[in-house]
Amino acid sequence: MPEKYKYGLSYHFNIAARFVAKELLRAFYHYIYRPLRPGIQFHCRNIFEGSNALVFSNGEVTCVCADHGLINLGNVNESSLEEIWHGEKFEELRASFRLNRLPLNHCAACFAFERIPKSSRNIHEVKPFFFNIHIETTPVCNLECAICRRDEVEKHRGGDRLSPETVHSLLDEIIKHRTNKFVLLFGFGEPFLDKNIYGYIDYVKSGFPETIVSISTNGIPLDNDQNIEKLLDTDIDIILFSVDGINQSEYVKYGRGGDLKRALSAMEKLVKRRNERGQDHPYIV
Ligand code: SF4
Repeated sequence: MPEKYKYGLSYHFNIAARFVAKELLRAFYHYIYRPLRPGIQFHCRNIFEGSNALVFSNGEVTCVCADHGLINLGNVNESSLEEIWHGEKFEELRASFRLNRLPLNHCAACFAFERIPKSSRNIHEVKPFFFNIHIETTPVCNLECAICRRDEVEKHRGGDRLSPETVHSLLDEIIKHRTNKFVLLFGFGEPFLDKNIYGYIDYVKSGFPETIVSISTNGIPLDNDQNIEKLLDTDIDIILFSVDGINQSEYVKYGRGGDLKRALSAMEKLVKRRNERGQDHPYIV
């Protein structure tokens, strides 16, 4: 780069123009050239294959677990999961994908979105039921993590909780279909603040032992001997501890309102008691 351009307006203009040209080229390639190329098909693993969905605590169903409440594909207080899966809103999304159009703004950045060769699989096939499902039995949380939009969650769910009857009927559907590899009993709240959670784990594991039940927790409500025993009495397969920091000052930068000592103590107690009881599960991550 000649010296005279180094810090001048032309230099910055040049950089900006190159950036814009690159972005235009990228957009053209991804959104015009590739979709129009014969043989390339937009696809979504979640809405065709049932790879993931989340039932919010107000009963609404969304196709993607990172949504805070913008996508509403049906409500389990009004329809069964199966009706929602084969219902109008899921079908609208599928129709758009079949036309190589992204139906929602979320899609472009979504991990479930794929561009695949038409020949690679039957892209029009819709699986009979979900493969993985998250059930947010409670939106209540004891922390305010940096990345979690608590304000959005609270605004969207209000005081709503899934009633035990609704959770049992969702679990009945899952047990009936037997297509779920995973049942994930968490959403945006802290699941162990729901006193019914232990019963839900038992319910699904006794009706459908082959499915893998998993819960993600910040661990703090488990810093309690009684809760550890109740949890170990269930047949839960996986507990994911979300503990983000190696000391209290680092930890609270993300897990605002949390207590690292209690989270670590819960983990230690759980591992110790699991081993003392001679159990090979839950697997702890
Ligand atoms: S946001 Fe789009 S790509 Fe993601 S799961 Fe929903 S429909 Fe599929």
